[in-house]
Amino acid sequence: MVMVSGAIPGCVLPAPGQAGQAGLELPLEPDRSRSFEAAERERPVLEEVPVEGTLSLAFSTDTPWRAKGPADDPDYATYGNRSVRLDLSGYDLEGYDRIAFRILPSCDGAQVVNLDCWLPFLPANHLISLENNRWNECTLNIGNYPRKGPQHLRFSATLRGRDLTTGDSCRFRIDSIFLQRTAEIPSERGWQPTGIVLSTGGYYSAGPKTAILPAACTGRFSLEDLRGKTVFRGSIQAEETTLGRFAVADFSRFSREGIYVLRAGDQVSRPFPIGDGNWDSAARKALSFIFGQRCGYPVPRTHGTCHLDLLAHHGGETVSFGGGWHDAGDLSQQSLQTGDVAYALLEASEHFRDIDPALAERLREEARWGLDFTLRTRFGDGYRASSVGLLIWQDGKLDTFDDIHTVRVQDNAFDNYLQAGYEAYAARVLTEDPMMQDYLLRTARADFAFAEEKFARDGYDRFRFPYEHCYNTSHSQWMATVSWAASQLYRLTGEDFYADKAAEAARYVLECQETEAVGGGLRGFFYRDTDRRSIVHYIHQSREQVYMQALTELCLTQPSHPDRARWEGAVRLFGDYLKALMAYTAPYGMIPSGVYAAGEYLDTDNFYALHLFPPADAAERYTRQLSQGVQVDPTHYVKRFPVWFNIFNGNNAILLSLGKSAALCGRFLEDPAITDIAREQVYWMLGKNPFGQSMVYGEGWDYPDMDSFSSGLLTGMMPVGIRTWEDTDEPWWPQVNNACYKEVWVTVAGKLLSLIAEF
Ligand SMILES: [Zn+2]
Repeated sequence: MVMVSGAIPGCVLPAPGQAGQAGLELPLEPDRSRSFEAAERERPVLEEVPVEGTLSLAFSTDTPWRAKGPADDPDYATYGNRSVRLDLSGYDLEGYDRIAFRILPSCDGAQVVNLDCWLPFLPANHLISLENNRWNECTLNIGNYPRKGPQHLRFSATLRGRDLTTGDSCRFRIDSIFLQRTAEIPSERGWQPTGIVLSTGGYYSAGPKTAILPAACTGRFSLEDLRGKTVFRGSIQAEETTLGRFAVADFSRFSREGIYVLRAGDQVSRPFPIGDGNWDSAARKALSFIFGQRCGYPVPRTHGTCHLDLLAHHGGETVSFGGGWHDAGDLSQQSLQTGDVAYALLEASEHFRDIDPALAERLREEARWGLDFTLRTRFGDGYRASSVGLLIWQDGKLDTFDDIHTVRVQDNAFDNYLQAGYEAYAARVLTEDPMMQDYLLRTARADFAFAEEKFARDGYDRFRFPYEHCYNTSHSQWMATVSWAASQLYRLTGEDFYADKAAEAARYVLECQETEAVGGGLRGFFYRDTDRRSIVHYIHQSREQVYMQALTELCLTQPSHPDRARWEGAVRLFGDYLKALMAYTAPYGMIPSGVYAAGEYLDTDNFYALHLFPPADAAERYTRQLSQGVQVDPTHYVKRFPVWFNIFNGNNAILLSLGKSAALCGRFLEDPAITDIAREQVYWMLGKNPFGQSMVYGEGWDYPDMDSFSSGLLTGMMPVGIRTWEDTDEPWWPQVNNACYKEVWVTVAGKLLSLIAEF
């Protein structure tokens, strides 16, 4: 057994497939061998030409000036860039679909090394994660972009300040640059798969298990075990759906635990597991990623104790905001996001308590790290340090030039309601720590009371900071949150006050549910408020699961309440809604974004709370994007992906929140068809998507390099999610890995854990 090092003594982690037998040290070493990039290096090249010249880029890491950002976000800044470019005007790039090169970084003491690569026709920079002091072989597909005329290749590095081990200088050498022509570059757009796509991270034994193949595939398919023995045979079925024609291989009837490949004609899939024990592997990777995002902590091979000199001030007090987890690819931090993730870790810990006690204990340990942050950034009077946007490492010393004092501080009723719910849940499950349980009970009561007082005084919060992921909170989501949090306190204390609050808040939520069918028989969805002009949607962060959390908790905790039948009826309606939606993404299992009303842009308060920094033509683009979905009646459309306008796109948090909703409905209603929908969200994440790529680094196969520019390549890292091509409703997943669709995000890891915890 290997003990986990550092501040997490006594915790052991099992190796894959050996629950409870062997330890693992976090963060887990990234396995690049099954990545998309590794597969790309193996892809045959039909023809290549060398590009004349080599590039070198050298600079000092010294940054003795203050990083300066925009006026409304003054510390969201870097120390600038250093770049180098190579002229490609003598080459006709139209004749080639890929560019290859190798990079040797020699960066003194740098644990995380990367370079941005760019050509003028690419939609954005592509971040290449590099291993220091060795040659890195790299390729980038360019064949999907018009690339006529003179071009150049640019590499740039961003100065982000020094971490503990960073030395004085950085040098990059780039050579062996080739333009290549390959047989067929992997698909980046649309619904049609180019090979067999399935969940390479595995399938549960229960429920439907399907793989999707190109429409032209016919005949038989087989499953083979790793010794090549055929264990199951079936016929490939042609399916015509709203997305076009597909071929589907259904092996639902086969549920023997093991690792298999699917064979159809001359195509063979990646190996994939079937079995209910697979999920501690995905959970461990999610945990490793979250651990790798720790702030204020020395993460091995990543960074030293960071951001101690990131400071929040209120009422004459100062607290360090270094703690919890870095939110994403950048070093930003939001207390509510840390609260969400801590709660998800606790849910997962409860799930694994008997299945895998060592993993459960390590999940609780990580949750406590997050809770420590959300508890100590309370000021004790309703105010909390809530967020900061951040891109740089700081020197860790107080009263030096790079101290940051702009951490946002506010008294938000919404934040206190939600955190009170998380604190109450934690107080119930952290049974090994009675003093902490008692403290959590006190803070949960206090935070709920702060929220009540603020709401009674000022009504709904006016969310002030667009970058905070609660800015989009609707009144119905607000009331569902109040209800859920009150139910958590009721479970903990048994006091009628909280039971009554939970039931009262739910009355508003029920008034926001559509009970009459719109086109396509769709009903059961929620409006943002009782005006019922805007339907609940999300752009990238989503807390949509809270509706089902609130309603199922009410049914379970107050079974004899007079409203009980209405709560259950609302859960049933939402379950029916989810079932009806699935026709629009079949044969995939991704839950669509939902039903949209044509005039939502006229409901401006709601529209602009949801769509951050919308363009001037947002109304036209809203209408255009709806027209690319499926019109179900004169004023309603189903959209598979959200309407979105700018860099805030990618739908993993959205589909996982809806997946959580499905899991809650399915379990409560004992309706396996709804639980099956929940499982499909895990399968989408792990490769059963049009690109056949796992979106969990190190789990399954063909997981791509992501935009993790601060903390580097981390096992279990997950991106914001698949985006859409222009104003269409078609998935687009470019290799170019910019923000925010391919930026890594702890929110997604938390939501995946929260979903896995349901099965
Ligand atoms: Zn940090």
